[in-house]
Amino acid sequence: MWPLPRPAFSARTSYDTCVGSTQSKNRREKLQKAADSAEQAGRRFRKAAAKSTLHKLRPEAFQLQGITGGDAVTWAYENGMVSTMKGRRIYDRLMAAPAHDICPLCGQGMVKSLDHFLPKSEFAALCVDPLNLIPACVDCNKAKGDQAPESPETVTLHPYLDNIDDHPWLTARVVQEAPTWLEYFITPPGHWDTLLTSRASHHFEVFNLAELYSAQAGRTLNSIRLQLTDLLEETGPQSVRAYLEGEARTRRAARLNGWETAAYQAWAEDDWFCAGGWTGI
Ligand SMILES: [Zn+2]
Repeated sequence: MWPLPRPAFSARTSYDTCVGSTQSKNRREKLQKAADSAEQAGRRFRKAAAKSTLHKLRPEAFQLQGITGGDAVTWAYENGMVSTMKGRRIYDRLMAAPAHDICPLCGQGMVKSLDHFLPKSEFAALCVDPLNLIPACVDCNKAKGDQAPESPETVTLHPYLDNIDDHPWLTARVVQEAPTWLEYFITPPGHWDTLLTSRASHHFEVFNLAELYSAQAGRTLNSIRLQLTDLLEETGPQSVRAYLEGEARTRRAARLNGWETAAYQAWAEDDWFCAGGWTGI
């Protein structure tokens, strides 16, 4: 959802690096013999991503030649990438890509692991393909689970492939009740097609983003409550609005579609809120 630069390693480079240090000679040769099937799987994956047909990919076509899926994941990913020094360098580079360790799937959590975009339990030949490895927080990794997409609309947004952060699309609205809260939703820019809009909505649901952002905004409001009340009492609603607009501006410069940007903007634009809506009256 929040874009990342595409990894610098190809599927083949990553595979060769991860299996090259395998200690058992027999196993290493078996893995090396399957290198072409890993490369071909990476090619099919990229082609399908470009054509928005990832949901049509079948696990049978994404196995390493002559190696069961379970062995492929244990040998190439767990041993070769996570636990071996050379493979680990690639793992660490992928983990380090998001600025400030912010999870690109939710824009809030801290990166703790690599999530397999297409699950490694089904698409074993992609288990060390960098394009299939997304740095993610624990909650997002868990929320996505081992589900492969079943339709074009259920392909979650891919941080390396879906660069959607050049226009505003995240919006919040003040719910005028006591206590007040913010409702978050997606406002698709005019150039988004219906498929991208559906995928973004699906992404929002899978990762529970409306609830996550609403809770975060509630905590932020709690932390500025006294300041808002002082401004209202000393100089009135216009001062409250000016303060909130300033906060929205500085957050927008840092992150166009961040939940904080949307929160401050929604509060600043709402007359009821600026007149004391946070006070619970
Ligand atoms: Zn996350």
